Amino acid sequence: MTPNKFKKLLTRTHFSKDLKNLQIGSDVRVAGWIEDFRDIGKLGFLTLRDVTGAIQSVLLGPNLEKAKTIPRQSSILVVGTIKPTKSREFEVEVSVKEIHVYSEAIHSLPIDPTGRIESNLDNRLDSRALDLRNPKISKIFVLRSQLLKIIRDFFILRGFIEVNTPKIIGSASEGGSNLFSFDYFKRKGYLAQSPQLYKEQLILSLDRVFEIAPFFRAENSHTVRHLNEFLSVDIEAAYLDYFDIMDIIEELVKLTLKHTIESGYHADLPNSESKSFLDVVSSPFPRLSYEQCLKDLGEMDEKVNFGDDLLDSSLRKLGEKYNSFYFITNWPLDLKPFYIHENDENPLLSKSFDLQYGYLELVSGGTRQHDVSKLKHRLQDQGLSIDSFTNHLKTFEWGMPPHSGCGLGFDRLMMVLSNLPNIREVVLYPRDTSRISP
Ligand code: ATP
Ligand code: MG
Repeated sequence: MTPNKFKKLLTRTHFSKDLKNLQIGSDVRVAGWIEDFRDIGKLGFLTLRDVTGAIQSVLLGPNLEKAKTIPRQSSILVVGTIKPTKSREFEVEVSVKEIHVYSEAIHSLPIDPTGRIESNLDNRLDSRALDLRNPKISKIFVLRSQLLKIIRDFFILRGFIEVNTPKIIGSASEGGSNLFSFDYFKRKGYLAQSPQLYKEQLILSLDRVFEIAPFFRAENSHTVRHLNEFLSVDIEAAYLDYFDIMDIIEELVKLTLKHTIESGYHADLPNSESKSFLDVVSSPFPRLSYEQCLKDLGEMDEKVNFGDDLLDSSLRKLGEKYNSFYFITNWPLDLKPFYIHENDENPLLSKSFDLQYGYLELVSGGTRQHDVSKLKHRLQDQGLSIDSFTNHLKTFEWGMPPHSGCGLGFDRLMMVLSNLPNIREVVLYPRDTSRISP
């Protein structure tokens, strides 16, 4: 093939979604893969799919003979003319003048990307690139991409600056365990579990920052909501309190919901037979204090003592009563990391919140402690060494404003919006305790 001819072959004129808007008689070149082929004698119908949808192409004579030899899922280009169609599935069809093969698919394929023969999630993840040829799967990731853009625009519009903090770090960012460590030129390096300390330092000058980035946790969890690498949407803002952050997050989550409805993504929200997306968007998210949750749990015969964390079993009970979005506020200070501010009314409590969807935690946030002497006390109370936080603490002596922020688990939000029960469904290449490839 001459370079020129190759270039010409690659120039497609339309994606499949655009064909319905064209006039009958228009000439088109559409590229994609063969999803289906039916040979009914003198005529053949080939369904060509690309990421935007599918088209019906009608083949006769030599083109029909050629199509019979091309395996399904092969990458092809059809050159043809738009014609009216009798099919109920398509609005127009392409009467094929030429058919070119770019690359043949070698059979048998590891999974059926049309989804007619179901494969389990593990097999699908092993062949993820092929799995994404199933439009039900690719639309999750199209939605994901659109929502990330909406989130970026949302924060930029509100004066937040997008930042990129390091993922390779030299000391434990929040103190906790759960860090992956590795050899970094004869020293120990770690993978960041959150941008917490950096984003707090940055508001000293940048005032409002956000970051959308993967973070890493070496937790040995085998659940449908934990991965060892997950995408976090983190924000931090000077001169705002945790209630302001809750308002911002509620508005943002509602915006993502609205987009999900408007984009024609027809999934319902999980466990919400009685509630439509629209109901959820138009009413405020309930805000329950931690102490109210203990009362509710007591009434459901689940006794939790003040100061205890709400474990999975308790959250599942609460999630039966509050089966949509709700905030849990004012957690006991001792349950929270050292950087969370105590509550003004009761120092045993904190200025903190989680956003839940039923049992599922989506966001954790709060007002941060900006008084450096109190920060040092909190570090000591939690058995952490002040020395290993020197670089962080010194920034609090340079005129650090009061500030608040939160981290939203984007993959978990995607689980809710696409009504899928396992976080692995909404992540392209999930990393868990037993999966590190592909
Ligand atoms: P959980 O209690 O559910 O393990 P967490 O309280 O440890 O979560 P945070 O440190 O508060 O998590 O992180 C902020 C948000 O990041 C969480 O609310 C969640 O949405 C998301 N997140 C945290 N850990 C994971 C993980 N391992 N996999 C996916 N998302 C996560
Ligand atoms: Mg949390």
